Amino acid sequence: MAQKNNPYVSFTQTVDRAAALLGYERSAYEFIKYPERELTVSIPVEMDDGTVTIFEGFRVQHSSLLGPYKGGVRYHQSVNHDEMKALAALMTLKCALANLPYGGAKGGVVVNPASLSKNELKRLTRRYTAMILPIIGPDEDIPAPDVNTNEEIMGWIMDTYSMMRGHAVPGIVTGKPLLLGGSLGRTGATGRGVSYILRETRKRLKIAEDGCTAAILGFGKVGKEAALRLFEDGVRIIAAGDTSGAVRSARGLDVRALAAHVESGRKIAEYRDGGVEHITNEELIATECTILIPCAVSDVIDERNAASVRAQIVVEGGNAQMTAGADEVLAQKDCLVIPDLVATLGGLIVSYFERVQNVQSLMWDEFEVSRMLRNVILRTYDEVWEVSRRNNVSMRMGAYLIAVERVCTAKRIRGIFP
Ligand code: GLU
Repeated sequence: MAQKNNPYVSFTQTVDRAAALLGYERSAYEFIKYPERELTVSIPVEMDDGTVTIFEGFRVQHSSLLGPYKGGVRYHQSVNHDEMKALAALMTLKCALANLPYGGAKGGVVVNPASLSKNELKRLTRRYTAMILPIIGPDEDIPAPDVNTNEEIMGWIMDTYSMMRGHAVPGIVTGKPLLLGGSLGRTGATGRGVSYILRETRKRLKIAEDGCTAAILGFGKVGKEAALRLFEDGVRIIAAGDTSGAVRSARGLDVRALAAHVESGRKIAEYRDGGVEHITNEELIATECTILIPCAVSDVIDERNAASVRAQIVVEGGNAQMTAGADEVLAQKDCLVIPDLVATLGGLIVSYFERVQNVQSLMWDEFEVSRMLRNVILRTYDEVWEVSRRNNVSMRMGAYLIAVERVCTAKRIRGIFP
C-alpha cells in the first residue's frame, strides 16, 4: 500500500479533486488513476571486476489514448514503483495539456549511476533496453532523457533497439545525439521553457528585473540551463544547490563560473568564490527570494519545509517536486505555484518536434525550434492561467482541469474495447 508522502498519492488525490470540480462520476475518470500496462524487469550487469549485479528496472505505460506512450527514463537510487506510476500519469496529463499527440509513460532503473563506470552504464542501458524491447517502439512507446540520463544514453538505446530490429530506427527515442537524428535545441529545452514561463510571469505580475532574485534547488540539466537563462534575463541568482549542498550570495552568484564548475564534474559543495556562503538545501528552500525553482528528485518540498518558503513564486522545474500538503501550505501563504505540468513542458515539446523531424527526415534550425517551443509553452501557460483564474483555483488545479477533461473526453469518444 502506498504511504502518505508519495507522488502517486498526491496525483490520485489531485485527480479526485479535479474530477469533482468537473462534476464527473467516478466511472468517467477512475481509469486515469491506473496505468494501462506495467513492466518490471531485472537487469543483470557484468561489472568491470567480473562480478554480476542485478538492478531493478521499470517501464510504466499509463495511457495510449491520445497517441504512442511517451516519457523519460531515469536512473536514480530512489526510483520506485509508485513514483514511476505517478510520473507516467503526469506525462499523460502533460501531453494532453500541451495538445501533443502522445500518451504518457515513464521508465527507470534503481541505480546510482555515479557509482558505475561508463562501460557498466552502457551495459546496464543496453540490457534495460533489451528487457523493455517488447513494449517499446517508434509508434508504441518512445523513451527520452530524464533524471541522470542524457543524449549519450539515448544513443545507446537507439543502437540497441536498431540492432535487435536489423535496421536503424532513429524514432525509437527522442533526446538523442544530433548526428543520430536528434533535434537542435533539445538539450536544455526544459530549462529554457522554465525561463520563458518566468519571463511571462514577471510581466503578468509586474515584477521588475531590478531586485528580482531566484534560488534554484537542483543544478542538473534543468536547473543549470534555467539559471543561465534567468541570469541573461537580468535575474539575480542568489542560491543554488545540488545533492551535496548549496551556495548562497546576496550579491548574486557568478552563474557561469558555477555552471563551468559543475560541468567539470564537481559538486556545488566544492565550489569556492569570495562572498559565497555554504548552506544546506533546507536553508536554500527557506531563502528569501522572488522565485524558488525546485528541479530535483520527487517531493523535495513537503508540508514541513513548505512552511519555511519565503519566495513569492515557486516554479516546479522538475516533475512532482511538491507533495499535495506543500501545495496547501504555499496557497495559504499566497505564493504562486507554477506546477510541473506546465513548467517542465520544454523538453517534452522539443521531443515532439524531434519526432516530427524524424518522420519527415528533415531538420529545423535552432532558432525555429526555440520560436515554436516558446509559442507552444506560452499558449499552454496562458490557457492554464485563464482556467485557474476563471475557476478561482491554483494553477496546478487549472492544469489538471484542462488535462483531465481532454483525457476523459478522448476515452468517451473512443469507447471501451471490445
Ligand atoms: N523526461 C522529460 C519529462 O518528464 C521529457 C520526456 C520526453 O521528452 O518524452 O518531461
